[in-house]
Amino acid sequence: MELTRLRGFRDLIGADARAMSLVEERARALVERYSMKEIRIPVLERTQLYQRSTGETSDIVEKQMYTFTDRDEGETVVALRPEGTPGVVRAYIEAGLDRTEPEQRLFYSGAMFRRERPQKGRYRQFFQFGVEIFGRPDAACDAEILIMIDELCRDLKVPFTVEINSIGCQKCRPNFRGALVQWGRAHWEELCDDCHNRIDRNPLRLLDCKIDAKLTESAPKSLDYLCDECRTHFDTVKELLSAGKVQFVVNPRMVRGLDYYTRTAFEVMAGGLGAQSTVVAGGRYDGLVETMGGAAVAGIGFAIGVDRMALAIQAAGMAPSAAPDAAIIAMGPAATRHAIVVARNLREANLNVEMLSPQRKMKTLLARAAKIGARVAVIIGDDEVARGVVQIRDLKQSTQREVAVAEAARAIADARGE
Ligand code: ATP
Ligand code: MG
Repeated sequence: MELTRLRGFRDLIGADARAMSLVEERARALVERYSMKEIRIPVLERTQLYQRSTGETSDIVEKQMYTFTDRDEGETVVALRPEGTPGVVRAYIEAGLDRTEPEQRLFYSGAMFRRERPQKGRYRQFFQFGVEIFGRPDAACDAEILIMIDELCRDLKVPFTVEINSIGCQKCRPNFRGALVQWGRAHWEELCDDCHNRIDRNPLRLLDCKIDAKLTESAPKSLDYLCDECRTHFDTVKELLSAGKVQFVVNPRMVRGLDYYTRTAFEVMAGGLGAQSTVVAGGRYDGLVETMGGAAVAGIGFAIGVDRMALAIQAAGMAPSAAPDAAIIAMGPAATRHAIVVARNLREANLNVEMLSPQRKMKTLLARAAKIGARVAVIIGDDEVARGVVQIRDLKQSTQREVAVAEAARAIADARGE
């Protein structure tokens, strides 16, 4: 076959797709309990948007974007979105919300594109479910965001750890950055080539290096450089997290590599994923709205890596079953007409029902019912039609009983309930 899919792009069929949808459904139910409103933003934006917000020196902008020149008059340079935050911030400013109604609680969901080396949990098209809150500079908001994530991981029954840090603000970060540059120069020989570039362009990213992870254990910690306001903010976040019963670990070397990030940064790691274990990442970005031409409004947000979270629930054995409650077997044309009605009634009673192809032999059909994992087979022949009954065969226990059509839904629900 020549027309194969592209490297790093996935087809998800059946259980793998279902696991992704489950993460998205649970996340949606969660954010609705937190009074959040949905935002839908374009997949294609000006490349400049990401250069301005994600940052020229970020891995994303430097090497991961799918970007091309549109054939319009202005030959606009556009990019497939590599992350959601820039588009959300642009939309927020473009709608004038930063001035009219600055306090906003928004969520989005959809595909992101990054041209990176594909591996397990790392794809070129992947899905994020994200949250952005504007106009809330207070520590209670940071805490609530983390409580929200804690709630989701518990709901999905994924083993997880929460790591938090504070990377300071415009005022105190220059000192930390200076210390990192100094440390980087002192360890020049030991650092990888990427880190040699990072030292001048984006020294915070030294701490994010996957190659030099061991070496960075001796690097300066952001917490040692916080100003009084940032320290108080961080202490309050920790106190509120404890009050909210969130277990967390302070990781003083966790950074977000972009300039607009301020104060609280966090990552959530799930078990059973190997190298790509970060399933949620986020932080505060109090400078971003202003940097992008809006008012000086605080912001904080996170994104769930839906693909990785789906792998985590599958690894934890939490993958939901899509097996039907009942497979319907109709023998002959009259029975088929009857079966259509029975199937409809059962579905209206909220049961998952699959009607099997009527042309086959009973033995083949029972084998098919077992193969799709149906709990029971509902068997209908001419005799059953005449008497207004169905045969319900429990496929696990190999027992069979006759019930009135009106009782069928209850009998199936009972068999399922065991
Ligand atoms: P990493 O360090 O793993 O590259 P990142 O810092 O680039 O992650 P963010 O931009 O913070 O990640 O995105 C938030 C989350 O989105 C990540 O924690 C991860 O779960 C998910 N994610 C990011 N890139 C990918 C990808 N290429 N494939 C699958 N999921 C991804
Ligand atoms: Mg990345």
